[in-house]
Amino acid sequence: MIPPPFEYRAPDSLSEALALLREHGGDARLMAGGQSLLPMLKLRLVRPAAIIDIGGLRELAGMTEDADTVRIGALVTERTLERTLPQRLPLLAEAAASIGDIHIRNLGTLGGALSQADPSGDLAPAALALGATLTAQSTGGSRAVAAGDFFTGPYETCLTEDEIVTSVDIPLSDGIQGHAYVKMARRAGDYAVVGAAALVSLAPDGTCRDARIALCAAGPTAFVCEDAGRSLQGTSLTDADLAEAAALAGQAADPVSDVHASAEYRKEMTPVVVARALTQARERADRQLREAPGR
Ligand SMILES: Cc1cc2nc3c(=O)[nH]c(=O)nc-3n(C[C@H](O)[C@H](O)[C@H](O)COP(=O)(O)OP(=O)(O)OC[C@H]3O[C@@H](n4cnc5c(N)ncnc54)[C@H](O)[C@@H]3O)c2cc1C
Repeated sequence: MIPPPFEYRAPDSLSEALALLREHGGDARLMAGGQSLLPMLKLRLVRPAAIIDIGGLRELAGMTEDADTVRIGALVTERTLERTLPQRLPLLAEAAASIGDIHIRNLGTLGGALSQADPSGDLAPAALALGATLTAQSTGGSRAVAAGDFFTGPYETCLTEDEIVTSVDIPLSDGIQGHAYVKMARRAGDYAVVGAAALVSLAPDGTCRDARIALCAAGPTAFVCEDAGRSLQGTSLTDADLAEAAALAGQAADPVSDVHASAEYRKEMTPVVVARALTQARERADRQLREAPGR
């Protein structure tokens, strides 16, 4: 069956894109890199009356940084995250590097990946663990949304139909911090069976000051495992401490079955993947502590 035709618009500015979005209401779809939207169109999962292609808006494609925060434009590609951020935001860079293949990452964008809200998407757990804040703009103004409030269900976000994500702010760590994004997938390039982002911050005596663990493919949305992270605070991050946190994360998992894995397998694998992520994050933090000036 031939699908109904759609209008294609490629605005030259953000203000033009916002006006078009308001004009078309819920009948339009934004397109950034097209790496999720185009497959959905081909599979007839979406049938928008209009596509508003924001891919050319250079004003959304930059990155800026001050002492505390990196602001990443919504159109910064996954490949750019992977290549330019290993020093400043290594967790985000590592998660980006795990996505699909290089062709996908060359086109897929941070704003598009987060707005797609795929429960198996790799960037959401990194954004959640890092405490990211998204800026959503409409013709009426802009608002800041914490990553923890952004994802509302599978493929659903808190965005209203006239809003565009324009940037993502990520706070920088000023202490000793180890990171890891560990993704279990059936084949290289596949979506996650389970993915875990882990951040551990150490006090000068080597004990855990703070820990953040976030998961994808383990529930209807990516989410932070609050109990698991809290259980590590003040500990020496022994293997037993990490195992306990991983078990708590496993208890929090509420996955579904799909072509990649059954819900039961995902539930079993969640603590395994979290333990691997925490072990790697602890090793990286320990290395930083050993190499810190004055030690
Ligand atoms: C073969 C293949 C393998 C993949 N493997 C993985 C993987 O392993 N891990 C993974 O995480 N992802 C994977 N992806 C998805 C990839 O990361 C996509 O690039 C990403 O999900 C969407 O980014 P995009 O810029 O292409 O968005 P688009 O496809 O252009 O848009 C996606 C959705 O977000 C909306 N949108 C886009 N930008 C904005 C914005 N700024 N504000 C508001 N709404 C917006 C669109 O309207 C659309 O609904 C894969 C994709 C393919 C095709």
